[in-house]
Amino acid sequence: MTSKKPVNRPSVRHPSHNHPLRLFKSQEEDEIICSGCELNLIGQAFKCTKKDCDYFLHKSCFDLPRETKHKSHSDHPLTLLHSPPYGHSYTCDACGQYGSGFTYNCSECQYDVHVGCAFIPETVKREDHDHPLTLVYNTPCKGREDGAMFICDVCEEDMSENLWVYYCKECDYGTHVHSCAVYEDHQPKKGGGGGEEGRGGGGGGGESSSAAARMKSLMKAQDEMAALQLEARIRKNTNDAILELWDEPKRRYYW
Ligand SMILES: [Zn+2]
Ligand SMILES: [Zn+2]
Ligand SMILES: [Zn+2]
Ligand SMILES: [Zn+2]
Ligand SMILES: [Zn+2]
Ligand SMILES: [Zn+2]
Repeated sequence: MTSKKPVNRPSVRHPSHNHPLRLFKSQEEDEIICSGCELNLIGQAFKCTKKDCDYFLHKSCFDLPRETKHKSHSDHPLTLLHSPPYGHSYTCDACGQYGSGFTYNCSECQYDVHVGCAFIPETVKREDHDHPLTLVYNTPCKGREDGAMFICDVCEEDMSENLWVYYCKECDYGTHVHSCAVYEDHQPKKGGGGGEEGRGGGGGGGESSSAAARMKSLMKAQDEMAALQLEARIRKNTNDAILELWDEPKRRYYW
């Protein structure tokens, strides 16, 4: 402990954490992961004031509504939990990946959605597909009597029927909403092989199995678009604005 008093740096409390937080601006090279959404954190954020505590939150995660009505689960509202309800992790019902930070949870149905997944765009464009893809809240194979599974057109893995899909109905083309989903300025994962992939590779190999690393790749794609957009909207409006997100007439196809 130094005797030097910190300059006037207001701290704030957040119910997700025991220590006070302060404003903080994160640079890309800091490689910080938000403790709430577990995605990359660049830009305005909150940071724990304790020196040895690695607790960070996006501003947008700091301001998440305690409860939200979500199109994917219309029967019940989803409640924001600051830690997984079933121990140290949960499986996200949107992307199928693990989570260990915040979740939007329906306790009655044990339905959980990453807070990052809860606010992904309803349509995305990808360079390798001519049409916009629309977010749907289960695979097109759901309920098929022959038991056929939908296969992600990027990673070519079976998708369980309740996962969300970015889908083009016209071409019957669809992708997972996690790292298989890419946005305009993002190289598709598939068909690399040029030898330039993974340059820098700071994190190292086995890391890709950790939730944080997976989420990192998701966030890289989403970062500029979803997070910043959302943050701006949240800042501009009250929490009620979140609900309006779902009423935007963005959908091209109706299910
Ligand atoms: Zn976050
Ligand atoms: Zn702390
Ligand atoms: Zn998810
Ligand atoms: Zn429910
Ligand atoms: Zn996939
Ligand atoms: Zn198409």
